[in-house]
Amino acid sequence: PKYVYEFSEGNKDLKDLLGGKGANLAEMTNLGLPVPPGFTITTEACRHFLANGAMPDGLDAEIEEKLRALEAAMGKRLGQPDDPLLVSVRSGAKYSMPGMMETVLNIGLNDESVLGLAAQSGDDRFAWDSYRRLVQMFGKTVLDIDGELFEDAFDEAKRQKGVTSDLDLDAADHRKLVEVFKGIVAEHTGREFPADPREQMDLAIKAVFRSWNAPRAVLYRRQERIPVDLGTAVNVCAMVFGNLGMDSGTGVAFTRDPASGRQGVYGDYLQNAQGEDVVAGIRNTVPLADLERIDKAGYDQLLAIMEKLENHYRDLCDIEFTIERGKLWMLQTRVGKRTAAAAFRIADQLIDQGMITLEEAIGRVTGDQLAQLMFPRFADDAQGHVLGSGMNASPGAAVGKAVFDSYTAIKWSRSGEKVILCRRETNPDDLEGMIAAEGILTSRGGKTSHAAVVARGMGKTCVCGAEELDIDTKNRRLVAPGGEVVEEGDVISIDGTSGRVYLGEVPVVASPVVRYFEGEIDPASDQADELVRAVDRIMHYADAARRLRVRANADNAEDAARARRMGAEGVGLCRTEHMFLGDRRQLVERLILADTEAEQQEALDALLPMQRADFTEILAAMDGLPVTVRLLDPPLHEFLPDITELSVRVAVAEARGERHENDLRLLQAVHKLHEQNPMLGLRGVRLGLVVPGLFTMQVRAIAQAAAERLREGGRPRPEIMIPLVGTVQELEIIREESLRVLREVGAEYGVELDFPVGTMIELPRAALTAGQIAHNAEFFSFGTNDLTQTVWGFSRDDVEASFFSAYLEKGVFGVSPFESLDVEGVGRLVEIATAEGRAARPGIKLGVCGEHGGDPASVHFFHRVGLDYVSCSPFRVPVARLEAGRAAA
Ligand code: PEP
Ligand code: MG
Repeated sequence: PKYVYEFSEGNKDLKDLLGGKGANLAEMTNLGLPVPPGFTITTEACRHFLANGAMPDGLDAEIEEKLRALEAAMGKRLGQPDDPLLVSVRSGAKYSMPGMMETVLNIGLNDESVLGLAAQSGDDRFAWDSYRRLVQMFGKTVLDIDGELFEDAFDEAKRQKGVTSDLDLDAADHRKLVEVFKGIVAEHTGREFPADPREQMDLAIKAVFRSWNAPRAVLYRRQERIPVDLGTAVNVCAMVFGNLGMDSGTGVAFTRDPASGRQGVYGDYLQNAQGEDVVAGIRNTVPLADLERIDKAGYDQLLAIMEKLENHYRDLCDIEFTIERGKLWMLQTRVGKRTAAAAFRIADQLIDQGMITLEEAIGRVTGDQLAQLMFPRFADDAQGHVLGSGMNASPGAAVGKAVFDSYTAIKWSRSGEKVILCRRETNPDDLEGMIAAEGILTSRGGKTSHAAVVARGMGKTCVCGAEELDIDTKNRRLVAPGGEVVEEGDVISIDGTSGRVYLGEVPVVASPVVRYFEGEIDPASDQADELVRAVDRIMHYADAARRLRVRANADNAEDAARARRMGAEGVGLCRTEHMFLGDRRQLVERLILADTEAEQQEALDALLPMQRADFTEILAAMDGLPVTVRLLDPPLHEFLPDITELSVRVAVAEARGERHENDLRLLQAVHKLHEQNPMLGLRGVRLGLVVPGLFTMQVRAIAQAAAERLREGGRPRPEIMIPLVGTVQELEIIREESLRVLREVGAEYGVELDFPVGTMIELPRAALTAGQIAHNAEFFSFGTNDLTQTVWGFSRDDVEASFFSAYLEKGVFGVSPFESLDVEGVGRLVEIATAEGRAARPGIKLGVCGEHGGDPASVHFFHRVGLDYVSCSPFRVPVARLEAGRAAA
């Protein structure tokens, strides 16, 4: 295979092979934009290197060939003593992983070529500073030396000279530092800093390959669900310099505001600075608009390029650029990350501008983004004591205790505290703390700083660059300009939409998007903002496009009504266990303790009217739409007192010489019902078969509720669902009883009650014998929670807390199968049951009501296998509607 591509040989669609950065550099090169020449080593070479610990055969020769071409194009050789070509070696995977992998700049410098660079640039300080940076970066990232050793030596040099700014160090100082740094390298690696430019380059390439597996990169991929085996490409690119004086600089730009989606000039610029300085947020940048004043020609050219890129990509692009002595260079572009709100607005604007179709627009937004927009936020008129404000880097409302380092953030959040991570700036080592925190607050860095970019990617609230707040991580406190002091553990609130930081807890309100879904905001009215209108437009399209129906899991009338407002087309799962709880518990106890059938019947008779009332309300809330009622599922002991508590109560009574008959009988019953594996025990249909009258009572309550609704002129559409069926015989018995009760009640009320009776498919045996089961089921609903539990043999109540983190860490799977459907295993059973169920009973209704019904990736799978509907919690209904539309579009 070909392992090395010149920029002019690639294009934007080759991301798998060239990584995002390489593919887009190629695209820009071919668009005729000013990209410094270079080449990309493929992800395939990386995969080979990581698998075999050695570079693939032939790679070296290819690199040599492309390097020669690069040297020819630049008219100088890599590290040429009198006029060195310098290159950067940058990582670039298929998916952007900001700051997670390595980059080495200024490759090609050594004791000789540094003099050539000084002569050519006419700037000694620049040349030695560049060399100093190379030894430092190379030492840290390629040779694995603790970066603090270099930083400490650097600080020491400043201290000795009595200065505080990096800019106060001159050529001689940097020259001395180079020697010190080389000493650190020799001491910690037992070898000299490599002077050979090609060796520098080769070592840097390998280091970038290896950085694919750096712990922080692994963690980031897990978070972002990026596959572990893609590998990174490496881009070798001729260096251009933004640190050659005040007519040079480097910056980041967006073609639209990544926070709001608005068109305009957004970005940050830093004069006389090199590459990473901006993203690292080390020095404070100026707004991009200021570049017009600093360098009008460069600014105009940049704006023209931005327009060209946006028209070409037909989407928001973000850009990294450098100006070297007045000449503009494009270092990177990509379709930019954006906030959830911006994603909807941009899609909406691009439709208006005629750049994309509605069908394309729906591919530009995701269910996860929609879910984010539904989180509560601070009220517009929120009252609270404002400590100060910074940049609104990533929206949302976060309240928590202030902590000043990642370690504390992780520790406190593990013990259940909500925390806000406060740092001067963040770097990739803070990633875990950022994940643990509710929100992130920094005092330095712009909207493109590490904190901002990563927080936006994670959908986490972030206020950055709040310069007026003195974040003092050493003393673990924050001092506001008004003199207020926030100590570690004090509660603060941060508003990622306005950028404000408050002392104490500020109350949060429902998001306008939720109010829109709830019908409180009419999208055609003045109340609706741009975002609500954008969401409305896209949801209409998704609803029209989707084939899957969307129902909700709702156990009471209130949830059913809300779900309906959110667009649910019925209830896919009404769990009935709560109808046995509360003050009805006593009746359940009586039922369980009954000595005779008559006593049992008495308890059931007392439960019946209560449950009838419950069903009547739910059927009214979903009038005209199907309501799938699942008969009782959990093991009975869940309705009895806890065994330990009860034992203690009985023992205490005994010690006092007392004897409580009821407690004693209860304890006996609890012992009798106790199971080692209750989830595999007496539950679901098994209860219906061994507890006489239980299921028929429930069916009778449903039937009577429906009959009453019919009398009142309603259109009740209950569906009776039997849980945990493993064999058709179980179902057959319960189904016949149910149909008999429906007929009886129908006759009593003088109405026809012709409602479907079906089953859950939540055991592997049920899935594998679906053809038989379908003869006795008018519908199937896949219970993917139990199905996942039983297919994997994972206790759904235990494993996520006990060992899943280890599994995720070891890459056994990228995401919990309880969260996102395991398509290959559990999904295979869904496919089998779907095919055999349909073959046995054409037209059988098929749905899913496990948690996966509201998970975006799973919804796409259910669409593919041809289910009729998904059912999920009311708040996920809009997400499922959108994803079902996306799946079909
Ligand atoms: C399921 O098992 O997927 C299901 C929906 O039922 P429950 O979660 O109540 O067991
Ligand atoms: Mg279940």
